[in-house]
Amino acid sequence: MRLVLLGAPGAGKGTQAKKLIEKYSIPQISTGDILRKAVADGTPLGKEAKSYMDKGELVPDSVVIGLVKERIAQDDCKKGYILDGFPRNTAQAEVLDKVLAEMGAPLDTALSVDVDKDVLMKRLTGRRTCKSCQQMYNVYFSPPKKEGVCDKCGGELFQRNDDKEETIKKRLDVYDAQTAPLMGYYKKKGILKSVMGLGDINEIFSKVCAALGKK
Ligand code: AMP
Repeated sequence: MRLVLLGAPGAGKGTQAKKLIEKYSIPQISTGDILRKAVADGTPLGKEAKSYMDKGELVPDSVVIGLVKERIAQDDCKKGYILDGFPRNTAQAEVLDKVLAEMGAPLDTALSVDVDKDVLMKRLTGRRTCKSCQQMYNVYFSPPKKEGVCDKCGGELFQRNDDKEETIKKRLDVYDAQTAPLMGYYKKKGILKSVMGLGDINEIFSKVCAALGKK
């Protein structure tokens, strides 16, 4: 299964991707995670990406496309993969299609997870991550027992730089302007499926599996 997950920041693509990995044993390729790791490691790529990410802007296409090409060529992607956060604009989608056509392995599905904007804002501004074990919380929907402290390991919780309110507004604007048009792009190709991303995570996952034609 070669799958692209579409949806605004905060729609829960990452969460659904993690559940898909468990069920289908295929890797998730999250360009956001790859870039955040490069920033944390202080690599030249990370240094270049950080200024864009902190402002909520897209990192240049040439950078992310290179990362994805390298990643999908690896052995563990032979059985399929889940692209999460890529493509983010039509130019990236076109290059992806071209690369996959050359590999003789086109996308099966582009699955969109749809969520209203007011819910997205709460999900994003409320998001906190544990510095030690990366466990995620939300101060509105799934708060830790003790404010600022991880239930699992006692680590300190922090807010991602790009989850601050100003940056979030920018990220959602960038999504509307550049990423939302991809729905039309994949619809035209006849591979777009959509699910509502509201409610219980497991119920959403059932809808995701049904949309993918998998039980
Ligand atoms: P995410 O975790 O997917 O929301 O990504 C966080 C940030 O990483 C985005 O706001 C962008 O700055 C950058 N980023 C992630 N994926 C891409 C992409 N495909 N193209 C450009 N920038 C990206």
